[in-house]
Amino acid sequence: MKNRRREPAQPCPLCQGKTRVTGARKPAASIIERYYVCMDADCNHHFKTLTSVVGTVVPAKNGNNLDLFEGSDD
Ligand SMILES: [Zn+2]
Repeated sequence: MKNRRREPAQPCPLCQGKTRVTGARKPAASIIERYYVCMDADCNHHFKTLTSVVGTVVPAKNGNNLDLFEGSDD
């Protein structure tokens, strides 16, 4: 069996309970918005998170790299 690396689970910010992803959308090319619901029946909090690309860790081999934040210092 393949040992797949998983994202850290996002707990409920109110009760720290387990959550389930109910949906996601992509408002921009480098941003993912995820919708969650808390699995604790007494809480049932619905919330959303943003994941965004903030930089390069290892440059792309093909030279096609990010220019995030360029031109924002004017
Ligand atoms: Zn909760």
